[in-house]
Order: sequence, then C-alpha cells, then structure tokens
Amino acid sequence: MSGFFSRKYAELTPYTPGEQPQDRQYIKLNTNESPYPPSPLAQRLARQEAGDLQLYSDPECRALVRVAADCFGISPDEIMFTNGSDDILNFAVMAFCDAEHPAVFPDVTYGFYPVFARLNNVPYTEIPLAEDFAIRPEDYFGVKGTILIANPNAPTGVALPLEDIERIATANPDNVVVIDEAYIDFGGESCMGLIGKYRNLLVTRTFSKARSMAGARLGFGVADKELIRDLNTLRFSTNPYNINRMTMMAGVGSLLDEDYYRNCCAKIVKTREETEKALKELGFEMTKSSTNFLFARHPDIGGRELYLRLKERGILIRHFETQRLKDYNRISIGSDEQMRALVETLEALLKEKT
Ligand code: PMP
Repeated sequence: MSGFFSRKYAELTPYTPGEQPQDRQYIKLNTNESPYPPSPLAQRLARQEAGDLQLYSDPECRALVRVAADCFGISPDEIMFTNGSDDILNFAVMAFCDAEHPAVFPDVTYGFYPVFARLNNVPYTEIPLAEDFAIRPEDYFGVKGTILIANPNAPTGVALPLEDIERIATANPDNVVVIDEAYIDFGGESCMGLIGKYRNLLVTRTFSKARSMAGARLGFGVADKELIRDLNTLRFSTNPYNINRMTMMAGVGSLLDEDYYRNCCAKIVKTREETEKALKELGFEMTKSSTNFLFARHPDIGGRELYLRLKERGILIRHFETQRLKDYNRISIGSDEQMRALVETLEALLKEKT
C-alpha cells in the first residue's frame, strides 16, 4: 500500500478472479465461461461497429434497451445495462445499502458480495446455508437489510424455486431484494416476470455465461422503474459510457439470435448431465446443479490436492480455501471433448491413489 492510498480502503481485500496462467495451454474449467463462441450475428454486428469507435457510445443504450425490452416483455424504463453484471451488483449495493440497510446474503455465495459491501463501507450479515447447501427462505423473512441471493447459487449450483423467491420478496416489502440470475439459463426458474408485482425486486443477469460473451462485459438489471432510476443516477454519476459500442451491438446481435443461444444452453445442459453421470461413476459426490458448473468432492482425495493434480496435467478447475468448501471444487462445463479429457484424467488420478 502506498502512503497515498485512502485510509478508507486500508482493510479492503479485493475479489480474486479465477486464474488465467499463461505458461502453457490449459483446458480451462475454472471461470464458468462458455465453450462456444458468441452468436455469429453478435460477432458481425460488433465488427461492423468497430468502424465507429471514434464516437462515444450511447449512454442510454437505446438500440440495446429496445431489443431487450421486446425480448423480455418489459418496458424500456425497467432495464439498465452495465459493464458485466458485477457492475450492476456494485451499483445495487451503492444504491440500496447503508448503515440502516445492511447487505444480507448467504455465507456460501458469490465472493464479490462481501467485497462490494466493504468497498462501499456498508455492514453485512452472512446467513448460513443448510447442511445440504440449500438456501432456507425463512431465514430471510424480515431481516431488515438489502438481500442479495444468487439463484441458482454459486459455487453450489443449487437453485431456489420461484415460489421461494416470491416468499422472500413478500416478506421484505421495505427492503430491496436482489436476485442475481447469472446462471438462470441452465435450469433455474427466472423471477423476472415478478417485477411488475414487487416494487422491491431487482433481477440481475449477465451475457457472460449462456450468451458466450464474458470478454465483452455486458450485464443488466430489471426492476420497477423507480429502482432503475436510482441505479441510473449512480451510473450517470460514475461512467455513463460503461457499455462500449462494440459490446452494445454484440448484445443486440445475441438477443436477436435466440435460436443460437438456446441451442448453446441445451448443449451445455446435456454435457453437464453426461459429466455428472461419469463423475458419479468415479465416486464423486455433487450438489444438484442448475448451472454450467458442477460442485464436486471425492471421498478419497482432498479438494486442494485434486485441483493441484489436475493443474499439473493441464486442466484448471476452481478451488476455494474456506473451511466449508475446501473439500469441494467447482468444475465448469466445457465442450464434450474437454469434459472427456477431464473424466479420463480423473480416472487415471484416482487409479494412482489406490
Ligand atoms: N454473479 C455470479 C453469481 C457470478 O458467478 C458471476 C461471475 N463470476 C457474476 C455475477 C458476474 O459476472 P459478469 O460480471 O461477468 O456478468
């Protein structure tokens, strides 16, 4: 830390993104990226837009907002786009959390939530998940804070049914409930259709996973127009051009190419089911995943050891060091070929152990 760094950030521990080592070619199953390229239409529109990069992007994102409003059956003032969904999650904490409205989220969830709380200097409470890693909706009734729930949750992959989200929104009419639907396209039930009914509900989404656009950085939030107005106040007070021109047009292309996106999701879900079966046969235990990753442990090999042995063999998975997660690893679903290589390597590793 330099002597110039503001003391208000002295205690800040930044989020640790998934590693991207450059020493060799890896099969990368550690950041939940899609194994498939973005839609050809998204690529074409982004390329065309490159010729206009001398101009600022539209701060109101009108081209994208129009197509998205149509696609999701909402009004243009009920949506706001951001630079990845991390950006809107940070805006949500900035906008709706303070000393009287602490952030409230599960003890096992997306690691950025506590970072955003500390960054914005707001208190937070972590609510333990059940033994089987399920979120118990009752634990969130009347908690007097701004609730953040990833549905499906990460890194567990476990989804909450729609009626439980609705019960949480109903039980907290005076607090904002943020539902982070980064992985919703792989099996969960979206609560986006409830925004007209609950003025306290903010649903966040990303183009990084199911729409194969992690490198473009595009996310958004959908909510009652009053909440969107608050979020826009903060966006226009920080970086109104947070969506660059190429990303905006890639987003338009992706939304217009619905078949491509549905097809990618279906392929990933099928690969997930096949991988799950193969890992079970090798003795792995897993939660029920509704996402593009598996959360797995093996009785004969520790989480860290497995992660390191796979890395030596050119396969990256995500390991978490916390007490409750250390036996597990999060394994992203790649292509069929990548998952076959994973299963074969695991088989060989486990044989070596016996
Ligand atoms: N929410 C969850 C639960 C995530 O796992 C991620 C991806 N790491 C994000 C939000 C943010 O994704 P992005 O900023 O790429 O949209």
